[in-house]
Amino acid sequence: MATNGIVIVGGGLAGATAAEELRDRGYDGVIHLFGAEPHNPYIRPPLSKEYFTGKDGRDSVFVHPETWYREKKIVMTTGERVTILGDHVVTLAGGREVPFDRLLIATGATPRRLDVPGSGAPGIHYLRTIENSEALRDELADGGRQVVFVGSGWIGLELAAAARGYGNDVTVVGPEKIPLAGPLGDELGTMFRELHEQNGVTFRLETNVLGFTQSDGRVSGVETDAGTIPADVVVVGIGAAPDTALAEAAGLTIDNGILVDEHLATSAPDVFAAGDVANAFHPVIGQHMRNEHWANAIASGKVAGASLAGADVSFDDIPYFYTDQYDLGMEYSGYPPLTEGAEVIYRGDRLKREFIAFWMQGDRVVAGMNVNVWDVNEDVQKLIRAGRPVERARLVDESIALTAV
Ligand SMILES: Cc1cc2nc3c(=O)[nH]c(=O)nc-3n(C[C@H](O)[C@H](O)[C@H](O)COP(=O)(O)OP(=O)(O)OC[C@H]3O[C@@H](n4cnc5c(N)ncnc54)[C@H](O)[C@@H]3O)c2cc1C
Repeated sequence: MATNGIVIVGGGLAGATAAEELRDRGYDGVIHLFGAEPHNPYIRPPLSKEYFTGKDGRDSVFVHPETWYREKKIVMTTGERVTILGDHVVTLAGGREVPFDRLLIATGATPRRLDVPGSGAPGIHYLRTIENSEALRDELADGGRQVVFVGSGWIGLELAAAARGYGNDVTVVGPEKIPLAGPLGDELGTMFRELHEQNGVTFRLETNVLGFTQSDGRVSGVETDAGTIPADVVVVGIGAAPDTALAEAAGLTIDNGILVDEHLATSAPDVFAAGDVANAFHPVIGQHMRNEHWANAIASGKVAGASLAGADVSFDDIPYFYTDQYDLGMEYSGYPPLTEGAEVIYRGDRLKREFIAFWMQGDRVVAGMNVNVWDVNEDVQKLIRAGRPVERARLVDESIALTAV
């Protein structure tokens, strides 16, 4: 008979969602939730959007209000890192040992660091936490700064848009030829580049950062293989690495994150993983996928909570994410591994940036992205989930409802 309860390591969205799912399923044992940050679990998308721009306040980022943890009898411990995972027991940084029946690792991801001369200079920022977001906002909110973004991924471009909104001069530098070409392909990556250029952003692409210059004790420029770019503020956004240290030291199988099956079980008995840190087997596409997205943290957190409660549930959601930049909002659903080599076809007006893009493998839709077109994401997901052949002419014909394609 189980007696020690559940331990969740990682007080982010995946961990908090798993705790909620456990209680929703009627689990009434002890639930410990340990978070290394000094905050209750919060969501990160607003850190580069509504919270960063000042549209929403700090309260809006928390997953649950403070009182929720007491009401649900979740033992929430903030500012405390779990340092050792043993056999049905974890050890905290302070030395306390906490035994468990089942454990969830939801330790998230950590920004990749740029290791070049001068990279420790004040004025060089990374973005993962509330504190990172506030520190960067303090630097940019008055406008008039020369801001250089290293990396042209999602977070960098969202922040570039917000930095322009505050009236700063913005340059984006990176080795890639086209921003976002990896996830979206050349055509749609170019659309994002043009969107930013039309809003005053300068791109210095196919350019490598070699180091940073300093003046008066803070960063003053970005040295590249194509010359030095003056900078008052630098934001490095070159991706994130799954935080696998705890699992790795405990001997769990690691491969681009913690390897888990469709129930989110790791290679160790009674230990599960969810969120950014988990590389989960997807039963529909028959391969592992690791997704660093908000919706993935929620969906996998729910399945992890169910598995921790002893239910037989599979994690088979279609990956989903969204972004907002200037007046462009988009939602993407689909299986990134299946989009390689796929043909992209469009429904709607690309010039006005009001359309849906579909990634086609043969006659099957494997991904879809709605840009400034709303209330269609569920229909796009249905097309992907159905996995049946569709007629392209009907798919791109706006006079035919997506549900009737
Ligand atoms: C600025 C920003 C903007 C984003 N915008 C979007 C967006 O627009 N759309 C989208 O889909 N996704 C977005 N994301 C991604 C999304 O936020 C992540 O996928 C999500 O936060 C993952 O949740 P998680 O719970 O797995 O991990 P995290 O949110 O990283 O939480 C993990 C927590 O575990 C803690 N931890 C780590 N190790 C230990 C330990 N040993 N002991 C105790 N605690 C530990 C960490 O400190 C952290 O607090 C964004 C991310 C960032 C940083």
